[in-house]
Amino acid sequence: MPSVTLQTPLSSIHGIGPRFLQKFKKLGVETVRDLLWHFPSRYEDFSAVTDIADLVPREECTVRGFVRKLEMRRAWRKRMFILEGIVEDATGAIRVVWFNQTYIRNVLSEGTPVNLSGKVSVSRDGEMYFSNPTYEIPSKRNEETKHTGRIVPVYPETKGLTSKGIRYIVKPLLERVGNLEETLPEEIVETFGFAPLSEAIRAVHFPDTIEEGIEARKRFAFEDLFFLQLFLLKERMRVKREKAHATPTDAESVRKFLGTLPFELTQSQKKSLWEILKDMERSSPMNRLLQGDVGSGKTIIAAIAARGAARAGFQTAFMAPTEILARQHYETMRTIFADEDIGVALLTGSEARAAYGNGLETELKKPDLAREIAKGALSVVIGTHALIAESKKKKSVPFALLGLVVVDEQHRFGVRQRAKIIEPDEHGYAPHFLSMSATPIPRTLSLTLWGDLDISLIDELPKDRKPIVTKVVSPENRGRAYEFIRKEIKTGRQAFVVCPRIEPAAAEGVLTAKEYETLQIRSVTEEYERLSKTIFPDLAVAMIHGKLKAREKERIMREFGENKINILISTAVIEVGVNVPNATIMMIEGADRFGLAQLYQFKGRVGRGGHQSYCLLFSDSSSDATKKRLLSIVEARNGFELAERDLALRGPGQFIGSEQTGMPDLAMNALRHPEVMKDARSAAMKIITSDPDLKKNETINIRLSEISRKIHQE
Ligand code: ADP
Ligand code: MG
Repeated sequence: MPSVTLQTPLSSIHGIGPRFLQKFKKLGVETVRDLLWHFPSRYEDFSAVTDIADLVPREECTVRGFVRKLEMRRAWRKRMFILEGIVEDATGAIRVVWFNQTYIRNVLSEGTPVNLSGKVSVSRDGEMYFSNPTYEIPSKRNEETKHTGRIVPVYPETKGLTSKGIRYIVKPLLERVGNLEETLPEEIVETFGFAPLSEAIRAVHFPDTIEEGIEARKRFAFEDLFFLQLFLLKERMRVKREKAHATPTDAESVRKFLGTLPFELTQSQKKSLWEILKDMERSSPMNRLLQGDVGSGKTIIAAIAARGAARAGFQTAFMAPTEILARQHYETMRTIFADEDIGVALLTGSEARAAYGNGLETELKKPDLAREIAKGALSVVIGTHALIAESKKKKSVPFALLGLVVVDEQHRFGVRQRAKIIEPDEHGYAPHFLSMSATPIPRTLSLTLWGDLDISLIDELPKDRKPIVTKVVSPENRGRAYEFIRKEIKTGRQAFVVCPRIEPAAAEGVLTAKEYETLQIRSVTEEYERLSKTIFPDLAVAMIHGKLKAREKERIMREFGENKINILISTAVIEVGVNVPNATIMMIEGADRFGLAQLYQFKGRVGRGGHQSYCLLFSDSSSDATKKRLLSIVEARNGFELAERDLALRGPGQFIGSEQTGMPDLAMNALRHPEVMKDARSAAMKIITSDPDLKKNETINIRLSEISRKIHQE
């Protein structure tokens, strides 16, 4: 047999047909390495081999015997095939039934030796039997079993590829790859008492005890985190070595400017601001994350940093994930910079505008705006991803002298995009980099996710804020909720209504009004019809969603901001960043259809001013899991608390899915083992301080470049 290495593609392994290959590909498994690293999600303990006479009801076990009888019948009424048989050993016999697994007839027949594993069922009249047990024909060559009589791995499956199928392939492969070369430095393996790689990988798939399987996994979680930390630390060192334009701070002028604001900064806003300004004074690039709950006032801090850059003669690129948000930042900044000689520009897919400090605001053709930016006439350029070209082909905005890049809602941007943004220019100067995020991540996790960034934390809300009253509203109280909205609007406030989809799904037309009322799968267009015509015909109701033209969206957001619209019905397009402090009601339809982090962001659209605000959650699901989830939104007092709760409830990676953090899957998987995080980080730190270029650690270096490549590709 030809030798098998980790790099061997599965396609060249004998016995894996094209159908299987395709299924594996679906699971992201293409090489032997991918397969061996496709870890079980849990184990089943079939290690207790029992004589049939000694079977105990409801216990998991394995029996070894022979098939005595096997018959197929068809359950009448239900379209189901039942295969029924008797298996016996020297001590007794037991009935076995399999539902809809007729193929077993081709594998087993009377007289076949067979192992059965599963939980012993008991019928109503007290008879013990096996229902859908795992079966295995013991090999004649006396090989170890794969599916029965042991701790059995249960894998993440896909349609047509069962755990049984995976075990069938993994087991012999484990033997064929032989001894695997160690990927961690020996020193680390020793310090933490890890099993050698080959042994650990075997133990993950076919452990002797469940504890052994779980323990072995730790090594791999550690390894992933260790390499991730190395990657981040190296990035950090690389950035630190780069040049940046030192941007001096005129503290007196900053203080004066703060005096012109309608509010006083909170303590943690002040602290964060000075940390940022101090970083910008250095001649190596700032690489900082400004973390703060929704509504904590991050924008103003970034704006003051941009102002500092402008006064020192540098331009700022200010990126937002949506056009709506870019537009809002543009309006904010052109207002606060109106009396400062600072030009502000807006550049998105659909708009190009410029506001000069002298009060002039104008719409320009894009090339003209680009020319203005290239001349250095505009200091702060606000836009979407388009601001920084991602490929060499597409030209990015031609800044005259880019000194600062601000990225709002940074979790919406990937690692690769981030890396691209802070690339040095042709003279070797990189911009200072400030990213902002409200993703509430427990402290323990933020180091892991953003170990390459310095972190400033705004951990308080402005003094004028009141806690948002949050309620899960049952369907029969819908009418009262509408009355309440009407009352709030009468006092001058405004409301958001968020729906899970833009247009109704076809099936909904079939439902009766009553069914519809209870189902609550609501769409923006339908709710708009209903609310504007029937429920609130006397109020100004509008809708906004991704399918509208940018200009239309802009008009609606402006009118909502000016309180010309009372109720805004929206999809998730208003999820992040939108700031209309006069809006006090956030009503969420089909709340169970949104993720927890998303719900939290919606909630953050209200309570952004001094008025008491409300978040009303409507849900069409009455499952306990949903209730619990929604309740955590109701009860958590801030984002961090919510994240901690969710972490405790379901482990990391749920609340902060990888799309929420812009972090590679590698990191997200590793995060399921927070207990090894600190060790992984300190081990990585130790290696990198003693050997910054990893010259003495060849294997680490190779593995690290593989990982870097992968991360940059994501
Ligand atoms: P986020 O951190 O979610 O991005 P924003 O920067 O949009 O929050 O700020 C939310 C609102 O709070 C804005 O209207 C802003 O002007 C206001 N704000 C910011 N800082 C303060 C403060 N210290 N006191 C009162 N209001 C503030
Ligand atoms: Mg914001």
